Amino acid sequence: MFVHAHPDDETIGTGATMAHYAAAGAHVTLVTCTLGEEGEIHVPALSGLAADQADQLGGYRIAELDAACRALGVTDHRFLGGAGRFRDSGMMGLPTNDHPRAFWGADLDEAAGLLLEIIREVRPQVLVTYDPNGFYGHPDHIQAHRVAMRAVEMAGDLAPRKVYWTAVPRSVLAAGMAQFAESSDNPFGGVSNADDLPFGSPESEIAACVDGQKHADAKLAAIEAHATQIPPTSWLFAIAGNFGSGALGVEHYRLAVGEKGSGSGEYGWEDDLFAGLDTASAGATPAAAASA
Ligand SMILES: [Zn+2]
Repeated sequence: MFVHAHPDDETIGTGATMAHYAAAGAHVTLVTCTLGEEGEIHVPALSGLAADQADQLGGYRIAELDAACRALGVTDHRFLGGAGRFRDSGMMGLPTNDHPRAFWGADLDEAAGLLLEIIREVRPQVLVTYDPNGFYGHPDHIQAHRVAMRAVEMAGDLAPRKVYWTAVPRSVLAAGMAQFAESSDNPFGGVSNADDLPFGSPESEIAACVDGQKHADAKLAAIEAHATQIPPTSWLFAIAGNFGSGALGVEHYRLAVGEKGSGSGEYGWEDDLFAGLDTASAGATPAAAASA
């Protein structure tokens, strides 16, 4: 089970992992907490859908997310509490944080209770969400973290055996910064040292590295499906074009709950989020050998 804040987060952060496990026959459930109503719109013909105009972006992004899920092979997708229950809060400190339906202002136990219902139904062995800073500080990402962790706590015996937080190793960031130094769409902005970024984990804190390079094309197709959010000039396409499937298809995780399984390589990283778990006996249905 993947718990994400907005449509497109699933693809950018964990798309290769989702495609990898969907292709392997695991039951992959995506829970998206908001419709992403406050996103910028990069398709000029659709600019009138913006929150301060027709305010139709959220509904439009449901279709983008559907297309992205199809590209990733993910068939079980839900919005937390149903589509439109919680609204994109916008960036930290903006008035949109105070919207009555803003996810940032959601009652924690109520929102976690909605996720708990899905956990009880799907019984995921592994849950993936963000770290306490929401990876990069967006209020909805921080709230997704809190809601997911609270739901795991509330789930008791039905709690996933392992919980992972998305992460990027410092070395990967440093390499990316060097590559993007001259780029016009530089995701690192004016920052020149990887240690100064609000994200990036020391290699020793990473627990798992999922190699989804085989599914880099699926991830790319899913990125393209989020056209209002990710323009053709985006650094994401630059990554795909310049560095290939290695940069796009390999995703890293920190382990927040559960026991690390056996790993390999210099840092002993797991190559499977189910490492150490008994996947043979798991799943609500015999067909679902494993649930993520
Ligand atoms: Zn997001």
